[in-house]
Amino acid sequence: DRIIAPGASREDEALEASIRPKRLDEYLGQQPVREQMQIYIEAAKGRGEALDHVLIFGPPGLGKTTLSHVIANELGVNLRVTSGPVIEKAGDLAALLTNLQPFDVLFVDEIHRLSPVVEEILYPAMEDCQIDIMIGEGPAARSIKLDLPPFTLIGATTRAGLLTAPLRDRFGIVQRLEFYSADELARIVRRSAQILGIACDAEGAGELARRSRGTPRIANRLLRRVRDYAQVKGDGTIDTATARAAMDMLKVDPEGFDELDRRMLGIIIDAFDGGPVGVESLAAALSEERGTLEDVIEPYLIQQGFLVRTARGRMATPKAYRHLGFKPKAGTPG
Ligand code: ADP
Repeated sequence: DRIIAPGASREDEALEASIRPKRLDEYLGQQPVREQMQIYIEAAKGRGEALDHVLIFGPPGLGKTTLSHVIANELGVNLRVTSGPVIEKAGDLAALLTNLQPFDVLFVDEIHRLSPVVEEILYPAMEDCQIDIMIGEGPAARSIKLDLPPFTLIGATTRAGLLTAPLRDRFGIVQRLEFYSADELARIVRRSAQILGIACDAEGAGELARRSRGTPRIANRLLRRVRDYAQVKGDGTIDTATARAAMDMLKVDPEGFDELDRRMLGIIIDAFDGGPVGVESLAAALSEERGTLEDVIEPYLIQQGFLVRTARGRMATPKAYRHLGFKPKAGTPG
């Protein structure tokens, strides 16, 4: 498995409970999101109403689940967690919704993967706190309306474009999470180190932060792996030297790229003469799924200026050429 995979591993999940921020002031970075949410939460509480439905989008590992925990905590209500692919039948969603207490938060991860029938149930639930469910089968079947308590739906997705328009329109609050700066990640690393009892100095945290692809989940994972290295090969403290040596061992380069990133840039430069190359061809050349390229690998490479997406396909920038030790081709963008 990729050490820099932004998806959650079993070990990540086991440690979530201790390091996941619970309040807005522990939710580091994402300042505009934090400021807005604080106002919306306070306003909803002041009026004694449920918070408007919230859609959070952003690449994996940036804190969508964490933000929904924080929101429920700040509202002082329960959080129920589920995900699009888990809700198979309309009845599954009906059961979840009818079990909510007033003002509770229902978090639906990967909400773009809800089936169309389940999505239909959600519309009147979100709009009027009502659901229509069918009971019985065949000629005896009839539909009944059920009233729901006021509740807040928080939907998370990697890209807003994956949602159907009617679903997207039913969210009053839409928040987009951005990649974190190295400074913000360094603060996150130091906070996690403190909670987990890991000795890590400011420079060591900075080195980890720079190689974490703007993603807190990766920063927390690198922290644990580098801790092992510092314990066995050093004196237990994570400083610049141990951080660098450990990450060289893990093959995470100074930009936070691993072999897959380098292979992708290398193929664009080498096999496709710098591009443009369509995402399908690229996926085939790398034996990776198109969705993985689009959701997991590309966003950070684009944000960092190593790759551009044009109407005709992906192109490597001079920065990518230089990073891999090639001389930039004349006329490359960026
Ligand atoms: P997502 O749901 O977007 O995939 P998560 O919410 O599960 O991501 O976050 C991944 C990890 O990063 C969690 O362990 C959490 O502790 C940490 N994390 C996420 N956002 C923040 C933040 N703003 N401040 C501190 N830690 C964070």
